Amino acid sequence: MTVDVSKAIPPSRHRREGPALDSEGSREFQRQYPEEARRYNWMQNQVLWPSRDAAVNPNKADLGDLNAITEHIKDFAKEVGADVVGVAEMDPNFVFKDTETPPHTRVLAFGLAMKFDMMADIGQNSQREVHRVYFKMLDIAVRISQYIGGFGYSAWAHPNAGELAHVPMAYLAGLGELGKHGSLINPEFGSSWRLALVSTDMPLVVDGPKDFGIDAMCERCTVCTRFCPGEALSPEKQEVNGVFRWHVDTAKCEPYFNRLWGCKICLMVCPLNGRGAFKAGYKVIAKELAQAKDYSGYLPVLARNTPEAADNLVLSKYLK
Ligand code: SF4
Ligand code: SF4
Repeated sequence: MTVDVSKAIPPSRHRREGPALDSEGSREFQRQYPEEARRYNWMQNQVLWPSRDAAVNPNKADLGDLNAITEHIKDFAKEVGADVVGVAEMDPNFVFKDTETPPHTRVLAFGLAMKFDMMADIGQNSQREVHRVYFKMLDIAVRISQYIGGFGYSAWAHPNAGELAHVPMAYLAGLGELGKHGSLINPEFGSSWRLALVSTDMPLVVDGPKDFGIDAMCERCTVCTRFCPGEALSPEKQEVNGVFRWHVDTAKCEPYFNRLWGCKICLMVCPLNGRGAFKAGYKVIAKELAQAKDYSGYLPVLARNTPEAADNLVLSKYLK
């Protein structure tokens, strides 16, 4: 079943449960970033971000067959590193309220797989991987936007920031479905991937949303809700910004997110990781999950697997 987004209202960057994003907890978490993460951040902010609005060739190309040019741009995206690519129609209802609406009609969405063993880590290794992937995504997005600019069309790269809400736009591009844990799930990469977007006025052919049977699976599954230490995942869908969907209470998530170094337990425990590219990696943790049953049984396992996190306050109370 596809999600009805016809009554969506533009999202705000501020969480629904109230402002607290620039908290001491989040600053403390950022102080623990490993050196590689800081380097990737610097390159993103200082080198790539200023190039996100591509130069436009004044000699506009005759695009000819739109199906062919769409496939050509998707192939280019894969050539420069994207793992999956789709195209959505621009929806102004998924432009953040406090930003400029890009002067574009299409959004190319792409995903990049994360290394599963790094994903299933709650220490600094996971931060190395997350920031490596964010850097690579902006690098790829800038290359795609510049390539489109070469055809004489405007294009902006939207990495882990920008004017557009990534999850709904990637959903509308057919890359996956929203999971109960609040992230998009792809049939091949499960929850172990990240998203980026490129908006453009090049009239690419739209893929549109797809039903992969993922939402139906979430209706029956309770794994992420049981393993979320913040009890932040709603077991039922609710209306959020005009769309009836799964919802994460970010105020409940945030303390754990910060103190577990970018907690993503909900993403790593999702059994849909075990169906595609990460089957082998998921098999290893699946046994631990079956024994642990919920977060109170699983946090000590994570702490043992991640010695550097053992003195973390959240984990230490579970250590015997
Ligand atoms: S763990 Fe289960 S309920 Fe949660 S996102 Fe994955 S499939 Fe859906
Ligand atoms: S990141 Fe951690 S605390 Fe936040 S919703 Fe996922 S499992 Fe829960």
